[in-house]
Amino acid sequence: MSNTNENKRLQGKVAIVTGSSSGIGEGIALAMGREGASVVINYHSNEESAQELKSKIEEAGSKAAVVQADVANPDDVEKLIRAATDNFGTLDILVSNAGIQRDDNFLDMSLEDWNKVISTNLTGNFLCAQAAAKEFVKRKVKQEEKRAAGHIIFISSVHDIIPWAGHVNYATAKGGVQMLMKTLAQELASEKIRVNGISPGAIKTAINEDVWSTEKGRKDMLSLIPYGRIGEPEDIAKVAVWLATDEADYITGTTIYVDGGMTLYPAFSDKG
Ligand code: NAD
Repeated sequence: MSNTNENKRLQGKVAIVTGSSSGIGEGIALAMGREGASVVINYHSNEESAQELKSKIEEAGSKAAVVQADVANPDDVEKLIRAATDNFGTLDILVSNAGIQRDDNFLDMSLEDWNKVISTNLTGNFLCAQAAAKEFVKRKVKQEEKRAAGHIIFISSVHDIIPWAGHVNYATAKGGVQMLMKTLAQELASEKIRVNGISPGAIKTAINEDVWSTEKGRKDMLSLIPYGRIGEPEDIAKVAVWLATDEADYITGTTIYVDGGMTLYPAFSDKG
């Protein structure tokens, strides 16, 4: 992605990206910053990496603030929203991205691992979306205008439609995010709030490093991707930026699968 961007498509907008000290969130925060947005970088535990990202966004000519917050904690989520309004005066875009995996076979999965993933990957999205929407409704936009009062973009997963043995907590949370997204899109449309999801396939980040970092893991992963390459955070970031612009003004309640064809049942490709 180029460092300079003459046509800054998010100039004057304020974005919060949760879980943005690494991976997909980092890619989205940087891309939005390069497009002119002021960005609230949320980290959970890695402050150093969040500060490095802040410097990169500032080098690109935009503003950024760094906030520690656990998306599953309502007080922390309030703090996150306040960081946007206190530092930058408002909030236009929430990218609800933070997520974790705690994998185990169903028969062995502890209640703790179930609860941890549901609270971060599902309840966290609920809390962040609700707090953001309360800000958005303050901005009155007429129905006929071709712009939104605010944007919520959930980073879900192909596992919101592909069942995933050994990851029941994760797949259940992501399936929930799909219905959370659609229901909010329906409920908030009259407020001119657009709500959409991006469902990544296999993207090279820390969350799945144990798989792509070995030759066998990489090969297994590629066997699930018809398009023949593992995705990068930039693949998701470019779509997130576009979704948050007025070019996508008529899109709400939709999930964009950015997955190199992972949801195309690749196992059937030579079984005609
Ligand atoms: P990642 O581990 O690099 O990023 C996840 C981020 O969430 C981390 O920065 C982490 O600190 C943060 N986080 C975790 N718990 C948090 C909490 N309670 N509060 C705030 N932040 C918290 O992995 P990633 O791949 O960039 O994942 C980002 C999102 O993309 C996740 O929701 C994940 O489920 C989703 N996703 C990733 C892939 C993939 O292949 N990488 C595929 C589908 C979906």
